Amino acid sequence: MPMDPRHAILFEPVTVGCKTLPNRFYQVPHASGFGSSRPRSQAAFRGMRAEGGWGGVCVEYAAISPDSDETPECSADFWDDGHAAALALTAEAIHAGGALAGLELFHGGAASVNGTSRLPRLAPSQVASELQYGGLAKELTAEDIARIQRDWAEAARRARDAGFDIVYVYGAHGYLLTQFFSPVLNRRTDGYGGSVAGRGRFWLETLATVREEVGGDCAIATRIALHGDSGVAGGGGLPGIEADEMLELIAMAADLVDLFDVTVGTWPENSGTSRYYPEGHELPWIRRVREATAKPVVATGRFSSPDLMARLVADGVIDLVGSARQGIADPFLPRKVAQGRYDEIRECTGSNICILREESFHHIGCVQNATAGEEFRRGWHPESFPAAANPEEPVLVVGAGPAGLECAVVLGRRGYTSVHLVAAEPAAGGRLSWIRGLPTLGDWGRILDYRLVQLGKLGVQVITGQRLSTADVLGYGARVVVAATGSAWRADGVQPGIPEPMPGAQAGPPFVLTPEDLCVRGLRPAGKRAVVYDTDGYFMAPALAELLAKEGYQATIVTTYPVLSPVSDQTLEGGMLRAHLHQAGVKVVYATTVTGIDPGSAVYGADRDGEPWRAACEGIVLVTQQVSRDELYLDLTRDQAALGGAGIAAVYRIGDCVAPRMISEAIFDGHRLARELGTEDPSMPLPYQREPAGLA
Ligand code: ADP
Repeated sequence: MPMDPRHAILFEPVTVGCKTLPNRFYQVPHASGFGSSRPRSQAAFRGMRAEGGWGGVCVEYAAISPDSDETPECSADFWDDGHAAALALTAEAIHAGGALAGLELFHGGAASVNGTSRLPRLAPSQVASELQYGGLAKELTAEDIARIQRDWAEAARRARDAGFDIVYVYGAHGYLLTQFFSPVLNRRTDGYGGSVAGRGRFWLETLATVREEVGGDCAIATRIALHGDSGVAGGGGLPGIEADEMLELIAMAADLVDLFDVTVGTWPENSGTSRYYPEGHELPWIRRVREATAKPVVATGRFSSPDLMARLVADGVIDLVGSARQGIADPFLPRKVAQGRYDEIRECTGSNICILREESFHHIGCVQNATAGEEFRRGWHPESFPAAANPEEPVLVVGAGPAGLECAVVLGRRGYTSVHLVAAEPAAGGRLSWIRGLPTLGDWGRILDYRLVQLGKLGVQVITGQRLSTADVLGYGARVVVAATGSAWRADGVQPGIPEPMPGAQAGPPFVLTPEDLCVRGLRPAGKRAVVYDTDGYFMAPALAELLAKEGYQATIVTTYPVLSPVSDQTLEGGMLRAHLHQAGVKVVYATTVTGIDPGSAVYGADRDGEPWRAACEGIVLVTQQVSRDELYLDLTRDQAALGGAGIAAVYRIGDCVAPRMISEAIFDGHRLARELGTEDPSMPLPYQREPAGLA
């Protein structure tokens, strides 16, 4: 299939300052966790985007001074030549793919942590704010201001010498430039505060200094934040910057800037999850930038539709299609568009597992793209796979949830010609086939849709409606069996710290229900008052409570945690989730453990202070713990003689059937096994490369 001619506009070159990008696909700066301390991981990760066709590829925020040290967060460092040597590898990798390389130079000001450097934080004024915990910042002196601007220029020179084409003066997400621009945080009276021009002076001077240093060799980008729906412009929870003021600053900066990188609102809004923000949700704000400048503009919006991308360019809203998350999910999106391979695009689910992983584990990952972050250490490529040594070997994958689906796709890609994927239900999908139907979780269905389309293209047999017994598997004719039989939610109320069944849980439906009772079997509480008991801490309990509330139940979530759904804070959606549930009429009882059920009348327990707690209701949904559905695997592996007799050489297991985890981990597991099948012992991962010491 050829490229849709309407998308040709996306492949036009774009000039930014003294540089020309080969096309309009632009991977904006976003954290990876690799920073400058794992330079080969960083280089391989960014280089893959260039190879996939993105015309501009940027490295995450890189600190220009040791007093902008983010530890324990995960920025890059860029205040000395060692850091520059480390990130030069990335510029080289990006160039090898034919793209321009960008580096997001920044100073965190009061938002810095300085955990490693132990230097005082710096701020326009010594004003307490939510940015500063554990002590206040030093108010910048005139000498400090000059020194930071010099650091910025020197970092820009180092970036140029390391091969970067685009250098940033990063002012979004609440960092130092935005702190200067905030009338709340900037109380200065020395010409660097007061009016828009005064508060913008530090920003403009920094741009001018950087331009003077490298403007002839590099394009100068600046990242700004417009007031968004979250009502706090500048990001990072900074109050007091109005969109009109930011537009004024853009106009003042126009001569100093080659590319405006526009973000909207706080980070949770800017990287809004699909649960609460649709694709392109920031567009009403982004459109306004044209009021202030004719200079090239790049903006993001979790764009995954080439139609929307092309329309926004054609309408003049943006010049470059910015992407962070879609580029992680599919580094090869541009090439796939160019080649008309639209049905092979792995669309971003907007679940922000990438952010959870890079922030919490300092190693980026993706639910859709198991190879993200594994380019260097495991040598994984999202589009190329080691050819099977025995392609005719029959492989049976039992269970078509996320793990089984991914495993079968990768086996197909490796050239296995006799792969059967068997699902017990009438349709493939495992838990995803019902999770995608829950309120707010529709886009997670992209995980399933992508894989089903690929299985069709690869000719993998997908057999539905067959629950295979041990005897069925032994008689199937497979040489390799992969158990991907998943997990189920416990119905007995066993929960963290209380390994015994919950008294009263044995009553079962309709008073005591599991998520599957609600979503697969269609059962409901007998009356209107429903308790959803959550010790899981992620999306399941809130989604079920919302489902019940929408159906007219009085839903109350009782959670053992002091906040609702703490995991959602790691995906940046906690605040939205809580507001959304409040609007949906869901009540929440915090820090309370349910210890028993009086079937037909009430549930009871105690709060964190040990105070007894009781609630009358007509049903409780237990979201306490999942349990692996591992009987098939254990049965098969128990009897090696039977396996030998059946001609089965190996049985493996993947996904929740090993241990119930996030969907991203089930997919990773399925991917890993399929990629390494045929190695000596694929039940264990091949060793991965560590970053050798020596750079940075
Ligand atoms: P995972 O996330 O690990 O892929 P899921 O629970 O989403 O796990 O999916 C596992 C799927 O396997 C479910 O649809 C389940 O019904 C199916 N399954 C379990 N046992 C069998 C079996 N014996 N035969 C076929 N399918 C099975």
